[in-house]
Amino acid sequence: MTRILEPGQIEGLSPGAIPRIRLPERSGPFAARAERLRQLGSPGAIGEAIGDYLRLMARVAEAQAETLGTLDPPLPSASELGRSRTHRMPPIQAGGWPREATWRVLAAELSERVAATADIPDSARRELAQLRTLPPEWLEAQADALLGGRREEVEMAVAPFVMAALQTYWVALASRLSEEVVPAIEVPGVCPACGMPPVASVVRVDKHSQGYRYLHCGLCATEWHLVRITCSHCQSTEGIAYHSIEGGPEAIRAESCEQCHTYRKILYQEKDRSVEAVADDLASLALDLLMGEAGFHRGSGNPLLWQ
Ligand code: FE
Ligand code: FE
Repeated sequence: MTRILEPGQIEGLSPGAIPRIRLPERSGPFAARAERLRQLGSPGAIGEAIGDYLRLMARVAEAQAETLGTLDPPLPSASELGRSRTHRMPPIQAGGWPREATWRVLAAELSERVAATADIPDSARRELAQLRTLPPEWLEAQADALLGGRREEVEMAVAPFVMAALQTYWVALASRLSEEVVPAIEVPGVCPACGMPPVASVVRVDKHSQGYRYLHCGLCATEWHLVRITCSHCQSTEGIAYHSIEGGPEAIRAESCEQCHTYRKILYQEKDRSVEAVADDLASLALDLLMGEAGFHRGSGNPLLWQ
């Protein structure tokens, strides 16, 4: 008798198989992200030209790391998890998730912590002060716009800080899930835990996922496996090309697709062990300019930059 297996089932067959997803650690991705942002913004590094912004975002990531431990948001119930499994939907779907008001308390705390830093630009201090005076309804509407991908409704200047609070909240959620409750979802190209688009992908070198490529969620930091030389936007395996900046770092390239004319960046741990999806994507703006000139558009934005 012939049995036909779906790709997800094949991968799940043996203990040595490719891990389908990598949920974030309880401690979160933020401390490593902060360190990487500082590194990439330093003199001689690829992000030197936007060093001030990278250092501001590094401080935001440090504040995220400091506050993550104070959160313990309620997880989906057993029946909600059952429903998401049945319908193959993300269990902590960002759009429509009943976020607790604690995320707004967190937004205020993050902005206070960052504003208290001596070496941040005055404009950022003003935006952070403004953020703390905004009414709850405004913040909730901004969160809905950010999580719903409605860029035209987003208030650009404060968006990275609002997004930072949402990231912290969703990492707290995702890091408390177990892999079994995250189904192989119906919609390709979005995070199987929260349904948001990936920021970039990383080819990993660690023991269990050597050489495999993972997409990195810009909200909850969950990573999910995608076969290499595949468009992360339309799943085409044809017309895929790789671009890099001449003389630039070898650890970062842009993966473009002739079918849908989008691109996302791909990072190679084998070239640099300290690559971090959000930080390296943000610091390599020059590669975005190059791709724009070549006629490609980004598959999705960076959560820390709304311009
Ligand atoms: Fe996610
Ligand atoms: Fe494509």
